[in-house]
Amino acid sequence: MIQEKGSISIHTENIFPIIKKFLYSDNEIFLRELVSNAVDATQKLKRLSSLGQYGGEVGDLQVAVAFDADKKTITITDNGLGMTAEEIKKYINQIAFSGATEFVEKFKDAKDANEIIGKFGLGFYSAFMVSDNVEINTLSYQEGAEPARWICDGSTTFEITEGTRTTRGTEITLHINAESEEFLDKNKLETILEKYFKFIPVPVKFGTKSESIEDGEDEEGKAKYTSVEVDNIINSGTPVWTKAPADLTDEDYLNFYKELYPYSEDPLFWIHLNVDYPFNLTGVLYFPKLKKDFEIQRNKIKLYSRQVFITDEVKDIVPEFLMMLHGVIDSPDIPLNVSRSFLQADGNVKKINSYITKKVGEKLAELFKKDRKAYETKWEDIGLFVKYGMVSEEKFYDKAKDFALLTNTQKEYFTLDEYRTKVEGAQTDKDGNVIYIYTVDPAKQDAFIQSAHKKDYDVLLMDSPIDSHFVSQLEQKLDKTQLKRVDSGVADKLIDKGEKMEHVLSEDQTKKVKEVFEKAINKPVYQVEIDALSPDEMPVTVTMDEFMRRMKDMAAMGGGMSFYGNMPDSYKVAINGNHKLVTRIANSTDEAEQTQLAKQAFDLALLSQGMLTGASLTEFVNRSVSLI
Ligand code: ADP
Ligand code: MG
Repeated sequence: MIQEKGSISIHTENIFPIIKKFLYSDNEIFLRELVSNAVDATQKLKRLSSLGQYGGEVGDLQVAVAFDADKKTITITDNGLGMTAEEIKKYINQIAFSGATEFVEKFKDAKDANEIIGKFGLGFYSAFMVSDNVEINTLSYQEGAEPARWICDGSTTFEITEGTRTTRGTEITLHINAESEEFLDKNKLETILEKYFKFIPVPVKFGTKSESIEDGEDEEGKAKYTSVEVDNIINSGTPVWTKAPADLTDEDYLNFYKELYPYSEDPLFWIHLNVDYPFNLTGVLYFPKLKKDFEIQRNKIKLYSRQVFITDEVKDIVPEFLMMLHGVIDSPDIPLNVSRSFLQADGNVKKINSYITKKVGEKLAELFKKDRKAYETKWEDIGLFVKYGMVSEEKFYDKAKDFALLTNTQKEYFTLDEYRTKVEGAQTDKDGNVIYIYTVDPAKQDAFIQSAHKKDYDVLLMDSPIDSHFVSQLEQKLDKTQLKRVDSGVADKLIDKGEKMEHVLSEDQTKKVKEVFEKAINKPVYQVEIDALSPDEMPVTVTMDEFMRRMKDMAAMGGGMSFYGNMPDSYKVAINGNHKLVTRIANSTDEAEQTQLAKQAFDLALLSQGMLTGASLTEFVNRSVSLI
């Protein structure tokens, strides 16, 4: 008979109060750790059997979790490979960390339980976060092995005695401490188990524990067998990401999506990730229907390690611009239990990050090539993060430039190359720059768009939240290309073709008209100038310079350009020297009439851009009424 008392080999007196104290916030992970160990034990047995190192019956491998509210216990049972007393000493007693001193040093800075548990190999010891006493009762698969039992009360001393198990496997019994009784609850336990173990390869049964005394009853009348009345099997079959894509139908992927996000609309498409060198990674990433709100959809990717849920914090592993994807990533090669800064520096994490970027690029390229029309219909959803990716990642830009689409106000779609070909005829300026004209608000800027169309200019739609960045990015990347907002100048002046236009006003008339308008408008933010525009353009147009507006936009978005943010708005008021109305003002001798016409023409310009509000609008309406 084995009987031994000993001391767990760490040199700091009492490690468990530390674990308890510092890990309290995240204490549900004790269940993740212990059930993972149980699952591992079954998988190890399976491997031994397939390697011919275990000749016995494998049977139906399973893990069971049960609780007893009266006795205040939670038990985790598996029929995996079990342990001998020697193995308990080796694997459980000698806590696998480099030194107690280091531990005590480190725990001070540890932010969460994961950090400590992973770094110091304390998976099993997380049991003490919730227990006064932990008991292992185990029988190894090895021939002739004797059952062994280990008991520890959370101090550094333990006791090993002969065990009572008669069947292969391990039973861990936690005697739940007073602060952790919340875990002695069916719903609570079920919820935790479902969170972590929905997709593992061995059935995890959950139920209420009952003890039965069978023929082998021992002298003290202690139960020899415990059994679990199964209420629920937590996991739901093999998840799609572990299968081969060739064995899966669209329906399989969609069903899995529904399982992950029960109330969501179907995704647009998905990518099956599968790589085993130089790192191990599987998963399925779904592209959700985003429309224009991309903030609310973030943080929906779940990270697994060998099918055990770890976290839905995948920042750093997934590139920032793909954070609104949904789905699952499973990799044993991601250091799960370490701090953020370490993760960022980790080589594998970096490789995984660029692998995902590459895969997403390939998938989009494939969709584009396979069915352009279908791709266009999805563009409203995918365009947002394709642009986001192009703006934030150089490598992705290089890929995406072939499948990124530009949309114009007529809802036609063009690749970057196609668009250049389309507009370079009409929209090249005297220096050989191609000018792309865009609108951020087609309803508000309609007058400008129509003027541009009259000149055979095309107008791009840039109305999503990412577009102001995308516009700058395109301008940087595309050779001899400038982007101008449609209202940044009158249509005749958007593209300087070097043709000198003349207006019909004499020098005196020009001077007079300018004065009339300046007096009528009488606000310093408006700079009046007389331009030679075509007679069928509006008599007055109010514009804001492209550069100035962009700087202000950036400042408004917190782009660090507060200098421009603080500058007052400044607009150009272009008076069309070739318009009949302007000639009439020039020729009039009635000063009141001149002022009234100038005011009316100016207000109409503001009105057509939605810039006329409040008292100015009322004044305009009253003036109009009196005029008619
Ligand atoms: P890790 O799982 O990272 O190795 P743990 O502290 O969780 O660290 O477990 C330590 C070791 O104890 C395991 O590697 C395994 O050898 C052994 N062990 C724990 N639980 C079981 C179990 N249910 N069956 C068999 N061996 C186990
Ligand atoms: Mg473990």
